[in-house]
Amino acid sequence: MEKISVIVSCYNEEDALPLFYEEVVKIAKKMKEVDFEFLFINDGSKDKTLDILRDFAKKDKRVRYISFSRNFGKEAAMYAGLENSTGDYVTLMDADLQDPPALLPKMFDLIKNGGYDSVGTRRVTRKGEPPIRSFFARCFYKIINKMSKVEMVGGARDYRLMTRQVVDSIVSLKEYNRYSKGLFSFVGFETKWLEYENVERVVGETKWSFWKLFKYAIEGIVAFTTAPLTLAALFGLILCFVSFLAMIFVFVRALMFGDPVSGWPSTICIILFVGGVQLLCMGIIGEYLAKNYLETKHRPIYIVKETEKINYSKK
Ligand code: UDP
Ligand code: MG
Repeated sequence: MEKISVIVSCYNEEDALPLFYEEVVKIAKKMKEVDFEFLFINDGSKDKTLDILRDFAKKDKRVRYISFSRNFGKEAAMYAGLENSTGDYVTLMDADLQDPPALLPKMFDLIKNGGYDSVGTRRVTRKGEPPIRSFFARCFYKIINKMSKVEMVGGARDYRLMTRQVVDSIVSLKEYNRYSKGLFSFVGFETKWLEYENVERVVGETKWSFWKLFKYAIEGIVAFTTAPLTLAALFGLILCFVSFLAMIFVFVRALMFGDPVSGWPSTICIILFVGGVQLLCMGIIGEYLAKNYLETKHRPIYIVKETEKINYSKK
């Protein structure tokens, strides 16, 4: 029998996990034609998440878990899940039931009978999200799609079902700075998008602050396009051209009208402007350099402390 691996990244999800488990087991029961594996990734939670996972694993043979030595972030958790999954099909889900497990039978059918390699989900509404966050999210997708060759689908969630072939190709991308939405699109394959209304999380709070999201957005841009570098160069070129014209203007004026000392305010303005542009461009280059630095260190994406098979703390 074929098997679906359900990968769930959890960071402080003690309240949501029992509800999630109940829901996903219900769906698994309905889908009699496949086996299931539930692979939970405990991303350094500080609450009772790990205890709950140990408990699940004890009661249910289908449950496996991997517990990180600290919080490595959702991207690392998803990577660990994909790398360690054993199913013929793999799905990524959030623990907060914002990714409705009820969509799974339909997704599976699309892959089995629809000829797709991967089925993604995107929310068409952003109900329940602060308006300012939605606004910036929309801007981000507009900008990155203009700049990058890899298409980022607006409102796309990480919730998707993939064949083993897609999973293996994702796992083969071993970069340290991971931006999954881009990676999924980078590997290609036939992807079907299911649309659904945004669901609010059952309990608890979102782990993403505005600042975290902003940094994630920069990560996405730096990882998938070098357009900002080209822009910086272009800006420099334009400024050179303008300064050349200004030089001619000043030279001719001095020849015709002599050279009384004046123009202090305009000089200062120009110095400040050009200084600002230089710092901005250096910042952009620095951003790429920093990512390069992290990438060349080849640090592991995650570090495991405990799994359902290996438990040194003997709890
Ligand atoms: N998550 C994680 N590591 C983190 C932050 C979040 O594994 O550092 C998990 C979290 O437990 C949840 C999923 O990623 O299952 C999505 O997080 P959240 O619901 O907070 O994000 P949102 O749905 O608001 O984008
Ligand atoms: Mg959520």
